Amino acid sequence: MLEGGCFCGAVRYQINGHLQAARACHCSRCRKAFSGASSAYAALSGGSTLTWESGAEQLARYRRKNDWGLAFCGVCGSTLCGILNGTIHGVALGNVDGDPGVGLALHLLVASKAPWDHIGGDAGTPTASASSRVSPPT
Ligand SMILES: [Zn+2]
Ligand SMILES: [Zn+2]
Repeated sequence: MLEGGCFCGAVRYQINGHLQAARACHCSRCRKAFSGASSAYAALSGGSTLTWESGAEQLARYRRKNDWGLAFCGVCGSTLCGILNGTIHGVALGNVDGDPGVGLALHLLVASKAPWDHIGGDAGTPTASASSRVSPPT
């Protein structure tokens, strides 16, 4: 059983089944939708279901005309899942607790990546003392 939830904890879900097709799309729309260098997203495998444990009433939804959309926590704004034709299609990997059982297998639209993004580049990892200085406000 996989579990996940949003940043503020209002929305929690469980996945009965598996994730598949984990991918990171670097296009400008996905960067905005996921507020990052790319999406980090995996689809529910066939027969898998996601159930909202808490906070379903807090969900905010965005839907495109082609019936593809996203659901967010209405309190903190975390992107939680993708919706296709009214059905939950997959989840934002960043909100899955622990090991989601899949790893990013595909980088999509790399030519559209942000100018500051260096995929697989040589960005360093800070020492313990430096990383404590760059922690975001909590
Ligand atoms: Zn939240
Ligand atoms: Zn994209």
